[in-house]
Amino acid sequence: MKRIRFALLGLFLGFLAASCSKESSVAFSAMNTVMHITSYGKKSEKANAVCKKRIEELEKILSTTMDDSDIFKLNNAKGKPCSVHPETAFLLDFTLNFAKKTGNAFNPALYPVTRSWGFTTGSYRVPSAEEIEKLLALTDIRNVLVDGDTVSLSCGSMLDLGAAGKGFAGDEAVKLLKEKGIKSAILDLGGNVQALGCKPNGKPWTIGLRSPEDDGVPVALKVCDCAVVTSGGYERFFTAEDGRTFVHILDGRTGIPVENELVSATIVAESGLYADVLSTTVFVLGKEAATELWRGSHDFEMILLLEDGSLAYTEGLSDKISVLSDFSKIEIIR
Ligand code: AMP
Ligand code: MG
Repeated sequence: MKRIRFALLGLFLGFLAASCSKESSVAFSAMNTVMHITSYGKKSEKANAVCKKRIEELEKILSTTMDDSDIFKLNNAKGKPCSVHPETAFLLDFTLNFAKKTGNAFNPALYPVTRSWGFTTGSYRVPSAEEIEKLLALTDIRNVLVDGDTVSLSCGSMLDLGAAGKGFAGDEAVKLLKEKGIKSAILDLGGNVQALGCKPNGKPWTIGLRSPEDDGVPVALKVCDCAVVTSGGYERFFTAEDGRTFVHILDGRTGIPVENELVSATIVAESGLYADVLSTTVFVLGKEAATELWRGSHDFEMILLLEDGSLAYTEGLSDKISVLSDFSKIEIIR
């Protein structure tokens, strides 16, 4: 009798383990990147499908190029007020406030300038200093008024949520997975990684940072329940006739592509949106100003890959990070 009871218990536990750890994955293209979601649990397949649908829905609202998106409508409204989805209003509110906090290093209204450099079309050029100066006036965040779900842009001003959209999409996906009862999932939304819970076996996820030069993984992180978001110039850039290289992330204060000692900036934070806006900002600010920002905050950690072949990371990551490459120097920011 006892043996049968144990056998039944074994069967039951086996069934539980199998049903809890059912793995489902989905891969799709959205927001100009390839996204992968892997989740675990009985409802994982359905949950992934719901996330994919939601991310595609958000892309249709937030894209700068899809012609019925809120952002496209606003950018072509010639100063007329537009009614937008609540998600757009929320994201504009969030990013405009964030722009204020960063003294415009981050700016969701930088589109007229990024456009003139050709980053929006791929027809790259180097605008003159006078042209940049003129266009910068259009990027003043006071040109964007958000009143509930109605947004107005001054004539000539244009928005681009490219530095925040994927992070927001990640947070939305994690929220939906939780609602579906998923306790363990890993989302790779093209450089934005979000971990829900830990691995089904209770151990942390291992997230590798991509190397800008090859397919190697110079640094790996062991984390649960957080977002790991990287910004780097190597993702998109062009080389001008004089041999100078210009990257797709611009300093919002000057309208000029970032040229500092950073190769990439990775942020580890609870929210994908926060990590996304921060990764772009830290890349713009450079190591010294980013270190100041980190010292005055308590809600993110960062990893910086530097042009001189060195690595710097904040002390909160000390027990999570594995360094897998030969760096010329490793600094722990305290
Ligand atoms: P990310 O990969 O998240 O750093 O976002 C980079 C994208 O954000 C660029 O391709 C531009 O569309 C946009 N962008 C570039 N510079 C800035 C900036 N200073 N503030 C906000 N968005 C920016
Ligand atoms: Mg970003």
